[in-house]
Amino acid sequence: PMASSEKDAALAATPSDGPTIFDKIIRKEIPAKVVYEDDKVLAFRDVSPQAPKHIVIIPKLKDGLTGISKAEERHTEILGYMLYVTKLIAKQEGLNDGFRIVINDGPKGCQSVFHLHIHLLGGRQMNWPPG
Ligand code: 5GP
Repeated sequence: PMASSEKDAALAATPSDGPTIFDKIIRKEIPAKVVYEDDKVLAFRDVSPQAPKHIVIIPKLKDGLTGISKAEERHTEILGYMLYVTKLIAKQEGLNDGFRIVINDGPKGCQSVFHLHIHLLGGRQMNWPPG
């Protein structure tokens, strides 16, 4: 289950369209373990992994996508591309027996960083229902 401190951080986070820690990761101002990068997306290991493999996939251009709830029709191409890249990374990471992808949205979804991101989780048996 999610550590209570992370849940508290998510509940305390104020949704905003301002810069986030992910902008600093994109600009290489803070280090991250990058597993995939191209002109449109960046993927890196989560600093607080919830599974043996836990990777965060983000668009380099936020374009108003603080979260999936803000998606507009103009975002459909990048959203589809992010899912495709997630599949490539799952294969690259050897997650051949299955994996989980998650998008948290808003306080009740435990979102803590307001720059859209897909979580890729694997390397252990995932459970259902999620917490
Ligand atoms: P959310 O809770 O918003 O869905 O997910 C945000 C994720 O970003 C969390 O799993 C958190 O551990 C991760 N995260 C937050 N700050 C950093 C950071 O500076 N570096 C990395 N690698 N991950 C981060």
